[in-house]
Amino acid sequence: MAERPLTPRSLPWPESAARPIGAPIQPSVVYAAESPDALDAQYEGRAHGYTYAREGHPNADRLAALISAMERVEGGLVTGSGMAAVAAVLMGLTRAGDHVLGGDQLYGRSLRMMSEELPRLGISTSLADPTDAEAFAAAITPQTRLILIEAVSNPTLRVADLEAIARMARERGILLAVDNTFTTPRALRPFDLGADIVIHSVTKLMAGHSDATLGWVGARDAALLERMRAFAVTLGLTPSPFDCWLAERGLMTFELRHERAEANAARLAEALAGHPGVRRVLYPGRADHPDHARARALLGGRWGNMVSFEIAGGRAAANALVRAAPEIAFAPTLGDVATTLSHPASSSHRALGPEARAALGISEGFFRVSVGVEDPQALISAFGRAIDAAAEAGERA
Ligand SMILES: *Cc1c(COP(=O)(O)O)cnc(C)c1O
Repeated sequence: MAERPLTPRSLPWPESAARPIGAPIQPSVVYAAESPDALDAQYEGRAHGYTYAREGHPNADRLAALISAMERVEGGLVTGSGMAAVAAVLMGLTRAGDHVLGGDQLYGRSLRMMSEELPRLGISTSLADPTDAEAFAAAITPQTRLILIEAVSNPTLRVADLEAIARMARERGILLAVDNTFTTPRALRPFDLGADIVIHSVTKLMAGHSDATLGWVGARDAALLERMRAFAVTLGLTPSPFDCWLAERGLMTFELRHERAEANAARLAEALAGHPGVRRVLYPGRADHPDHARARALLGGRWGNMVSFEIAGGRAAANALVRAAPEIAFAPTLGDVATTLSHPASSSHRALGPEARAALGISEGFFRVSVGVEDPQALISAFGRAIDAAAEAGERA
């Protein structure tokens, strides 16, 4: 008998009696079945197997299982971005004629999906203030199929009346989806409060290193999850194995990073509040935050790693602040292991225009900080120096 030719396609993976403790990465796009009978067994659910990476792959399934355990739900689906997860919910679960109600301070692209993409498909949308349960209830229509909210808003860090909204959604048979990106399962488990669907941008705090773009969506009802899975596979919202592998590695330190970042955020908020160049500090853990009591009840005192603040002096002061702190990345993201700084007026909220921004309290001097795990004293002095530089530039301007 002729020897089998040795090729990368026929060469088995080297055996090891001891297993690796680092997670393997499986980049294969396609999987070879043993026979048509074996393929039948796979398609009929008698055997578990992968066929084609767009439909699913081991690194995505591992990551989904880990995040699902954090949110204490069965199943769960990893997608190629947080927005892919939002799309799987907003487009995968609705049809023409439905109405979707969203919080009025959702993530910018989620707002865009509500205002531009859903109406194009015949799905009407509206927005309401989720900190005001009555205003929110008034925006529900007989066609409302789904509600999408975030527990803590960006960038003013207002806290939604999630319990009241969950109650009204349940009473009226409306699906409630909660984007838990900002809050994370360390502070909030939306399923425990009655959410039907939970969304994450895994890109942010979960993966935590600004090197992987991913999302996750879970649902209490398996049929809803399967509907979203079919939509995601058909549209190709699939994640890359490498990104999933990176995120799994990041997730191993999530608790540790988040605990430290949260402690740093509390100290930074305190220091900012005591700085004469700071007009106001927005941090749910501060007694002067408008939703402080609700944040305590909803988040159990887990105030999170986000702090916003405002300085005087307009754009010149804002430029000077950013330039004076080169060690803090001026980047419109959140949840990185290191502290990042964003300026909503020139980034996430630029499309709103000055009047709509003013209504939200977002001036040229408004900054949002995603606090990382650095030495807190170094962080506090960097911000102190930057705010001093901004005050000087503001006086010159
Ligand atoms: C970043 C973000 C998203 C979108 O996630 P991507 O991974 O960037 O696509 C959705 N919701 C919230 C709250 C976010 O912060």
